[in-house]
Amino acid sequence: MRERAQTVIVGAGIVGVSAAYHLTDLGVTDVLVLDQGPLFETGGSTSHAPGIIFQTNGSRTLSRLAQDSVALYDSVDLDGERCWYGVGGLEVAATPERMEELKRRQGYSRSFGIEDTELLTPAEAVDKSPLLDPRTILGAYWIPSDGAGKTVKTVTALGREAQARGVGFEGGVIVTGFDIRDGRVHGVQTTRGPVECERVLICAGFWGPTVGAMAGVPIPLVAVQHQLVWTDPIPELDGLAGDTWAQQPVVRHQDMSLYFRQREDHFGIGNYRHEPIVTPQPSIRRHGDGPMPSLMPWTPDDFDLCEDETARMFPSLEGRMRPSAPERSLNGMFSFTPDGGSVVGESAAVRGVWVCEAVWVTHAAGMARQVVEWMETGEPSYDLAEADANRFYPFQTSPAYVVERGKQQYREVYDILHPLQQPTTPRNLRLTPFHARHRGLGAEFLTGAGWERPQWFRANHDLVGGVTHEWSRRAGWAARGWSPEVGAEHLATRSHAALFDITPFAKFDVAGPDALAFLERVFANRIDRPVGSIVYTAALTPTGGIRLDLTVIRKDEELFRVVTGGGSGQHDLAWLRRQCRESERVTITERTGSLFALGLWGPRARDILRQVTDADVSDDGFPYLTARYIDVGEVSPVWAQRISYVGELGWELYGQFAMGDRIWDLLWEAGRDHGLIAAGGGAFDSLRLEKGYRLWGQDIHTEHDPIEAGLGFAVRWDKDFQGREALEAIRDGGGPAERLACMTVDDPRTVVMGKEPVWHDGKVVSYVTSAAYGYSIGRGIVYGYLPAALAVPGTLVEVEYFGVRHASTVTDEPLWDPKGERLKA
Ligand code: FAD
Repeated sequence: MRERAQTVIVGAGIVGVSAAYHLTDLGVTDVLVLDQGPLFETGGSTSHAPGIIFQTNGSRTLSRLAQDSVALYDSVDLDGERCWYGVGGLEVAATPERMEELKRRQGYSRSFGIEDTELLTPAEAVDKSPLLDPRTILGAYWIPSDGAGKTVKTVTALGREAQARGVGFEGGVIVTGFDIRDGRVHGVQTTRGPVECERVLICAGFWGPTVGAMAGVPIPLVAVQHQLVWTDPIPELDGLAGDTWAQQPVVRHQDMSLYFRQREDHFGIGNYRHEPIVTPQPSIRRHGDGPMPSLMPWTPDDFDLCEDETARMFPSLEGRMRPSAPERSLNGMFSFTPDGGSVVGESAAVRGVWVCEAVWVTHAAGMARQVVEWMETGEPSYDLAEADANRFYPFQTSPAYVVERGKQQYREVYDILHPLQQPTTPRNLRLTPFHARHRGLGAEFLTGAGWERPQWFRANHDLVGGVTHEWSRRAGWAARGWSPEVGAEHLATRSHAALFDITPFAKFDVAGPDALAFLERVFANRIDRPVGSIVYTAALTPTGGIRLDLTVIRKDEELFRVVTGGGSGQHDLAWLRRQCRESERVTITERTGSLFALGLWGPRARDILRQVTDADVSDDGFPYLTARYIDVGEVSPVWAQRISYVGELGWELYGQFAMGDRIWDLLWEAGRDHGLIAAGGGAFDSLRLEKGYRLWGQDIHTEHDPIEAGLGFAVRWDKDFQGREALEAIRDGGGPAERLACMTVDDPRTVVMGKEPVWHDGKVVSYVTSAAYGYSIGRGIVYGYLPAALAVPGTLVEVEYFGVRHASTVTDEPLWDPKGERLKA
């Protein structure tokens, strides 16, 4: 075995081998792949996956990764043997709700580039999948490019190709530890001795937590058992001729959490319809202790429901689902994470330790491509925020949380999930100091990053009374997770004032003699401004994409406060820390959990604040985009920032967590005569979109640069910053091909939810990045990137929602207060 390699990959399943293959594609061949099992049927999840791929996904990234994976699997063969069968995918609906969902899913396929999908009647579905009983379904969604692959053969083919290009593969080698010094990996310890290396890529599948722990890298996933049965032969398949490995489409019956595929003269049936069975890491078997380690004893009772339902839907399978050969019924394990996403990227804890974990066969080749691009070029070409290895708060990596959430992901794997659907457990993990007040006002809570966040308040119900807007009669999908109070809170913020609990915003203090130089290098806007200045800025990728989007506030000569979204907080923190050079005297301290944060916003905000502070809060005394310490009653110090995410006059107020109650009560009392209300996240989101504020992760991310996103105003060309060269090339290259555009839906009653396809001239030209109802302007608002020629006010487009196209119009933005007069009042 080699004693050194530039890159060591742990794991030769579909992910590890695809990564090795893609590294060679980028010219990197000094690579050693180690696996404890035999090559290439290693005994991991890949070894028994039926290889089914459904590409449609509500995540644009996952959808594209699946398409990329299919393209690669389709391109390889093993000694002339075909590995991929694009027999098509059929997602059936047994309930009216699912039928509606299938329309939405077809919308995703259009948004994200999966071609020629169709909605079928039951009879048309049977034309594709002849054993299906049409009486059991209401219809189906057909995806011609879905299918199934010979997974182990695909891995073998990719592995051999990588081997031919110079990669070393070793089976039967257990990685037992890592040589980590000075925060960086220098080698790998194995049962066959040490291997020196510069970087490691952990692709250890459901063993990830164990392997990660050896390096001090949390990999929050849980191994859950999933049932798969290969039926006895089915006489109706006797007549198949030619290559029978796969001829009929793969079928998903999501209302019962089941899937099916024909293979030769029998079917494979996958069953998620049982209580999740978790295998703790110490209970995972070693090689040699019986069947392959990823297989657990078959639990026949868990298959009962599945058997009944399958017999109903595919009558010819009845009596053939309890095969006598024991190896045809299996409980196989694979990985589930707390939020269902993969875990990918370089660990924030140890330099040189990369992970690519919790990845399905469906996305493996595509995801492996992204991670190796990231390793080689500093950035993947796709936005991988939803898979970022450093996105988890520490509590989200605790075993209790990981198991609870991982099990729930398993249960929900095929569920119809509304974007605002909430987990029921674990809840109340992180409470802001205003929680009791929120409860008192009848808050409806959503959870985000563990925080309980009010979405609206029942106490505001009276404000809805008398409102005769069309939107107050919202129904259906759009009415879920919504209440008319949302609209009322929006309007009251614009007309009077509201208190928004923004404590979950992530806050970091960046301090030290080199803090300014560090931030100036990292961020595209000018950071060197007088103490008390607030700067909205982006940090860019080497190709000019938006890696962070946040505000930096100069608190002192050598002290800066960074405020960013709660959802992206850990990602932003890890990235910022990673940019620090060893020679730089900079410390970055997280303050999120120790500071309350309140937004006091609305035209009456000044009148209210004046009553509880002696500070001069006039426009001259406390101008827009400035910050300083003030007292609010006895609450002192309060760091006040004159900025607002809702487009109204107001302040963000930060102070000691323990004094939260007191400041709330003081402001509440002072606001009594000014119509002050508490407002929630629903109003917040619609206020921000009306004002055209972009949301990182949706409207902007690493695949979009500030110029196409309409954020060029926050770039200072008179200074140097990371990504400048790339951005200059974009600026000077004739401008971007597409631009983020604001569109309003013509019918004032129509609301869409996001990710819908946008049509122009009979073609899909974009998809919706953000959507909300603009209660002040009386229209549904959507944002999306349009070809530059279409991104001009007046262009007529259509937004498809549940299969219906709604006339919409590109408009000037922002829709609310375009001159910013209300902010600067
Ligand atoms: P694995 O294939 O598990 O590979 C990890 C490798 O790491 C193993 O070979 C292991 O031996 C090695 N390793 C771990 N620790 C060490 C160590 N310390 N030293 C050396 N080597 C180590 N997905 C789909 O997309 N479509 C499907 O149809 C599908 N069906 C499935 C059906 C079943 C029954 C199961 C269980 C899973 C299914 N999946 C499916 C999920 C899919 O199989 C997995 O997500 C995927 O195979 C994971 O690939 P991997 O390379 O990450 O992991």
